[in-house]
Amino acid sequence: MKKTLTLFILLVTAALSFAQTRPYTKNEVYFKGTEYELEVYKIYGRQDGKTMLVIGGIQGDEPGGFLSADLYSDMRLERGNLIVVPRANFKSVILFDRESEADMNRRFTKDLGVMEMDKVVAVIVDLMSESDVFLNLHDGWGYHNPKYIDQWRNPSRFGQSIITDADIFACDDGRMLDLKTPAKKVLEAVNKSIGEEQYFMHYFNTKTEDPLTKFTDMRKTATYYALKHFCLPSFGVESSKNLPSLELKVLHHNYAVNEFMKYYDIVPEHPRIFLKAPKLNYAVIKVNDEVVTVENGKTLFADRGDIIEITNVDANYDRGISCDILGMGDLNDCGKRVEVKGESRIVFRKDNQKMGEIKLAYKTKTAAAPVKQPVQPVVKAPEQPKQPVVQSGTENLVPSKTNVVFVMKVNGVERRVASGGVVKLKKTDVIEFTEALGGDFGSPDVPVNVKGYVPAGAVNNGDDRGYRIRMTDYFMLKYSRDGKGSAYPVIAGNSRNEIGEIWLEIE
Ligand SMILES: [Zn+2]
Repeated sequence: MKKTLTLFILLVTAALSFAQTRPYTKNEVYFKGTEYELEVYKIYGRQDGKTMLVIGGIQGDEPGGFLSADLYSDMRLERGNLIVVPRANFKSVILFDRESEADMNRRFTKDLGVMEMDKVVAVIVDLMSESDVFLNLHDGWGYHNPKYIDQWRNPSRFGQSIITDADIFACDDGRMLDLKTPAKKVLEAVNKSIGEEQYFMHYFNTKTEDPLTKFTDMRKTATYYALKHFCLPSFGVESSKNLPSLELKVLHHNYAVNEFMKYYDIVPEHPRIFLKAPKLNYAVIKVNDEVVTVENGKTLFADRGDIIEITNVDANYDRGISCDILGMGDLNDCGKRVEVKGESRIVFRKDNQKMGEIKLAYKTKTAAAPVKQPVQPVVKAPEQPKQPVVQSGTENLVPSKTNVVFVMKVNGVERRVASGGVVKLKKTDVIEFTEALGGDFGSPDVPVNVKGYVPAGAVNNGDDRGYRIRMTDYFMLKYSRDGKGSAYPVIAGNSRNEIGEIWLEIE
């Protein structure tokens, strides 16, 4: 008994830890990389409610429908749920053809599984089982009208209509499904939005089960299948292929989907809240006008004196993006021509959050040592000056919002080094960082992190100020530039907001 209870508790805990909190969206991709790639968006609202399945692109030459469905893929909901299949028949969408091997909207039949596209049909059938209402979005020819007006406006035309298979559908389980009332209610509101009478949508009952119907083909469609097998209120929404613009086709679909959502109490979130963690993918950077693409975490190679310009930043956000070449330029160096003064890093931020970085390193060894020492491979090089040489970073030692100055002691002697600079050290040197001045950290108390250095017996909290660091102390090699311990970065700030960097080069 006790064992069973423990197992039960374990199972419940597991189920709870997997349950996602509303609101959230699940994006499923079936048959990825194939002609029948199928994207499905399951959008769960802040509060639960009815689930509406919206399908576009079951016939590929009907962009009003699939471009409208596509817009709902990114929606977030206050109440209720949406399952969106923006492009049911992707192959026919690519071909801009009604059919691929066949018309997918005639494949909802008993001989399912015969054709390749039927695997998509099977997924859609599965989605029907999770839904409470179903909309299939189409663009039809002409303008449906209950009365015959001319060859483009008559009862046989499909454009500008909401289609049902019956006014009231008798489900196999005995339920009577009223399709006419919701369709009429939606139409009334949609036509108010459309305004122009010539473009009004009309109610169109194809009387699919009627032995005398002209539309026997409708018995093979997705909407009829959903009615027959799931007793799902199902509607075809048709804009007209003859509408004067694509925008109007999409708009009329949107009107209809919005009104159906209202009818079934599915409430959108306005405006949509999007708080995903920002992430840099890559940046396009000009080095002396030569264009290179550098992925997040990789290195941009440029020499001292080169002009670099970040021309394009690819991230999961479009707004609030800044690029900061540490030690050069200012807080935002996107689109700016900046002269390379030293090795550094480019920090990419979305608002105040770091979303990625690209290292900036010299292309050539000689460029790394502009204060040149003659290379003497045989004879020992002449004695270096006793004091460590601050090789760069001495250009501007006045701290400011855009210039971070590191204050340190080398063998007891105070040194100031600006961000972007390099400090040359001997193995025997002892250093200590006092503080970092300037920069935009949000607080004057800026941590200084000597990467790779772990203070003995202390918790590594990312702040190494006040530690006397012997260059013979243990450093983690993985933080060094070459992985062999030749140079280590020192960061001003924290992982969330790095505001400056210098390098310790060890002879
Ligand atoms: Zn169609």
